[in-house]
Amino acid sequence: MFQKVREAVDRGRRILVATHVDPDGDALGSAFALALALAGKGKEVAVYLKETIPYRYAFLPRPPVILDKLPQEGYDVVIVVDCGDLQRVGEGFEALKRAGYLINIDHHETNEAFGNLNIVDERASSTAEILYLILKALGLPIDLPIAKNLYTAILTDTGSFRYQSTTKMAFSICEEMVASGVQPADIAEEVYESHPKERFFLLCLVLGTLEMFQEDRIAVARVTQDMFSRTGTNREYTEGFVEYIREIRGVQVACLLREIGNGRFKVSMRSKNGVDVAAVARAFGGGGHERAAGCTVAGDAHAVRDKIVGAFSL
Ligand code: 5GP
Ligand code: MN
Repeated sequence: MFQKVREAVDRGRRILVATHVDPDGDALGSAFALALALAGKGKEVAVYLKETIPYRYAFLPRPPVILDKLPQEGYDVVIVVDCGDLQRVGEGFEALKRAGYLINIDHHETNEAFGNLNIVDERASSTAEILYLILKALGLPIDLPIAKNLYTAILTDTGSFRYQSTTKMAFSICEEMVASGVQPADIAEEVYESHPKERFFLLCLVLGTLEMFQEDRIAVARVTQDMFSRTGTNREYTEGFVEYIREIRGVQVACLLREIGNGRFKVSMRSKNGVDVAAVARAFGGGGHERAAGCTVAGDAHAVRDKIVGAFSL
């Protein structure tokens, strides 16, 4: 099933692994697990990561080489993980097409099949789940550092095993990771219970903007650049906020609007009861999954809010 990946990896000596901007647990866990496994096979492997690693994922075991500049060429194989479209890799992403044979491994239903080889399974709980199957098929051993990355990726992408994406397969991979030494309580503490206090000062400001629409079925909150500077935080502190407001009873769609400068907002959407937020994200040039999607919208906070709320009729 993964014969072509095996051939490319066998042929390749220098391999680059890349993932999306605003990296989450699945992006980092998948990229690190893959790079560690390839390095273990004797490949010269680097991970491209434009940004610093968010504080909550700083504990993840890392591969030896992480680059913050996009290499232009010189790789035999480039493997992009957890990215629905190549733009999500960040500025200069076009260079990846020239850098080597491009393999796209992902689980977003909006994936644009931008690779020379595309392994996309939207039924997978996470990109890490697909990677697990690839590592097995390629006979690459899953040691404890790799297991911690895969476990964390699945844990976070399934919302701690709460989302629809939580399958028997997700549990069975995690069971195997625990058998190889992963401690679920330790990982949960790192990811969910190690926030700097500033995150809560920011959360207070963000919750103060909460507004409800369409008979309380849509909840919208925003975070501005001013809130970041007042609390000494940045966007990585906002991970989890939108899931938090989805917890309101009766809410079917939760949106967080994050000001990113130049009169634009990054919109994060989450849904329950089967509302398809990916369709709305796609209409605004973004993408994602049925229950978790995002896009970038131009306008001031109120205009962006009205555009997004107006795209739903619940
Ligand atoms: P988040 O709201 O956490 O940034 O993203 C939720 C989901 O939507 C993730 O799976 C993410 O990859 C996807 N997503 C967020 N923003 C964009 C975007 O601008 N374009 C695409 N294609 N996907 C996005
Ligand atoms: Mn993912």
